[in-house]
Amino acid sequence: MASIRRQVAVSQSLSLNTPGRVPFSVEFMPPRDDAAEERLWNAAEAFHDLGVSFASVTYGAGGSTRERTLRVAERLGTKPLTTLVHMTLVQHTQEELQDMLRTYASLGLTNLLALRGDPPGDPNAEWVPTPGGLSYASELIELIREMPECADFDIGIASFPEGHYRTGSLEQDTEYTLAKLRAGAQYSITQMFFDVDHYLRLRDRLAKADPEHGQKPIIPGLMPITSLRSVRRQMELAGAALPPKLEKRLLDAAAGDEVANRDAIREVGIEVTTEMAERLIAEGVPDLHFMTMNNVRATQEVLHNLGMAPAWGPGLGHDMVR
Ligand SMILES: Cc1cc2nc3c(=O)[nH]c(=O)nc-3n(C[C@H](O)[C@H](O)[C@H](O)COP(=O)(O)OP(=O)(O)OC[C@H]3O[C@@H](n4cnc5c(N)ncnc54)[C@H](O)[C@@H]3O)c2cc1C
Repeated sequence: MASIRRQVAVSQSLSLNTPGRVPFSVEFMPPRDDAAEERLWNAAEAFHDLGVSFASVTYGAGGSTRERTLRVAERLGTKPLTTLVHMTLVQHTQEELQDMLRTYASLGLTNLLALRGDPPGDPNAEWVPTPGGLSYASELIELIREMPECADFDIGIASFPEGHYRTGSLEQDTEYTLAKLRAGAQYSITQMFFDVDHYLRLRDRLAKADPEHGQKPIIPGLMPITSLRSVRRQMELAGAALPPKLEKRLLDAAAGDEVANRDAIREVGIEVTTEMAERLIAEGVPDLHFMTMNNVRATQEVLHNLGMAPAWGPGLGHDMVR
């Protein structure tokens, strides 16, 4: 396999882009089988051609995707694409975490999203730390910062526009988020949200509580809505719910029948995501991060509506990718 190109730090990539054009990035999931893998590479090609600023790769609970996450990240890095590897603490000892970090460092994968993760099986179950492991993402950042091999790592974290669902109050959530930024994270990517005001309030809270670290870039996480069922499921996994007003707008579009009229839902869903992105761009966000589920079309449609990509359709070379 070709070697990984020297990686631009994600926090730097946010300022390297064309003036007047907000950068966009994408999240991929490690594929489960050959067909899904093929789809992922087509998607990576398509987003590369559309000028994506970086691509992130998620990490499954308990290291279930450890090898696949690494393989995907390695291959993306050779495209070349700036690649961001997600890493969690779930079911790992400190030694295992250090081994993984050394592997990433030796491959030149220097962009890392430091996460805690959720209990495997049931994300809402009580968090029980692995013996010899860590409990919070801030501790993972400290671990990375203590490793000379990882001196050039650029670290991102998760942030939560409505507060993390396990945290008692927004004040506490602000403090825990700031602890990660103070420990050495350079930026955060938010959990997906559907009310831009929540993003803006998070930004205000962090900046007010700590004018130095709280000003670090907050990349909004956007999931283009293509079906009510999947967006409800994603929100549930994140311990949140779809805002009732939005759910009504989508259901109205489908005249109450979300199965028969799923195309109408999709159309309004893309419209909603476009409106959110327009407002976020006007608010000066550093990047738009799309949770793609390894699909190109929905994200490309939003980008097209924003004047940032050609229309989806035959002739682009990627019309086989859904
Ligand atoms: C952009 C993004 C990408 C993600 N990617 C993945 C992925 O690839 N794989 C995956 O499994 N999950 C992923 N997640 C989900 C994430 O792992 C969960 O939301 C998890 O519950 C929280 O992770 P965290 O890194 O924010 O944890 P932390 O910041 O460690 O917080 C975990 C909990 O502990 C609390 N807390 C933090 N510090 C302290 C402290 N010092 N004392 C007491 N309580 C504290 C927090 O408020 C929170 O309730 C992602 C989330 C986001 C937003």
